[in-house]
Amino acid sequence: MKIKQDSNNENLRDESMEEMIIENDQFLIQFPWAGNLGQWKWYYKENRVIFNEKKSKQLGYDPKQIGPIGFEFFTSKLHPDDFNKVMDNMRNHLIGETNAYEVEYRIQHKDGHYLWYYDRGTVTKRDSVGKPLIIEGIVFDITESKLVENRLRELSEKDELTNVYNRRVFYERMEKYMDMASSNPEDTFSLIMFDIDYFKKINDTYGHLAGDECLRQLANLLKADKRLHDQIFRYGGEEFFLLLPRTNLSESILVAKRIHQLIYEMEIPKVGHITVSMGVVEYMANETLDQLITRVDDLMYDAKKAGRNTIKY
Ligand code: GH3
Ligand code: MG
Ligand code: MG
Repeated sequence: MKIKQDSNNENLRDESMEEMIIENDQFLIQFPWAGNLGQWKWYYKENRVIFNEKKSKQLGYDPKQIGPIGFEFFTSKLHPDDFNKVMDNMRNHLIGETNAYEVEYRIQHKDGHYLWYYDRGTVTKRDSVGKPLIIEGIVFDITESKLVENRLRELSEKDELTNVYNRRVFYERMEKYMDMASSNPEDTFSLIMFDIDYFKKINDTYGHLAGDECLRQLANLLKADKRLHDQIFRYGGEEFFLLLPRTNLSESILVAKRIHQLIYEMEIPKVGHITVSMGVVEYMANETLDQLITRVDDLMYDAKKAGRNTIKY
């Protein structure tokens, strides 16, 4: 604990606080049946956190070895993508905007891997002007159920063969991006639709498994080449969509040309080379989803009619 040494009074206060903290320590949950329940108590002004054994042991730390700690002991181990969410949630509770601090996050075990926690706490004591003095909470290790949840979400969102998003997610994302583009013209987006040429013949000539392998290799190529925010969907058998956020028509044509060329150059075992026909559109204000899809589908059909292995926009 950081004890302020600037006056004897301060020292006295801190010693009695230390006694109180030690006394309180006895009330932490230590029962064997407590399972994965961690418990913590944060003395806000002193920035001192006490906790039951579970809370530190779950993270791979022996409570006897880590000594007195402040809240940074835990927050420094948060997953970078969850850090702001946790801090905002706690801040909102401390200033009285919410009844409880309640959040799920990933936290790093001493060995380096991450665990998922459900953490819930509340201010149990404030001073005369309402500033928090003590915050208490419980924390559950929810790693197992979170992994199952993530796996289930992935199964419901991704196409099994190619591991890109499925048609249902495509519609959801389209609604979202159309809403965004309607409220802010800078959030315009483009769509590339494409279909493998003469795919039936590939199946007939080399077999269905070789056809499956084509789809997988094609998806892998798209995944490897895509820009950070671009999204890939398998819309039907050998039909794919690429959603390009914040991309206008001329930029998306460049993307389409590049991908078209990469697919053309790709060497697939047994099958050799495949080609695709593409349509490219930029979202137009006030257009419905049906209108947008029809527009890009018509362009792709034009590319087929024009002899395939080409791009229409
Ligand atoms: P086009 O150039 O006009 O697109 O001709 P095509 O032969 O590619 O088009 P068509 O729609 O006639 O055939 C698509 C074929 O894609 C038919 C179907 O058997 C095959 N297909 C659809 N899904 C899968 C799949 O998951 N795996 C395999 N191997 N084939 C699939
Ligand atoms: Mg086809
Ligand atoms: Mg097709």
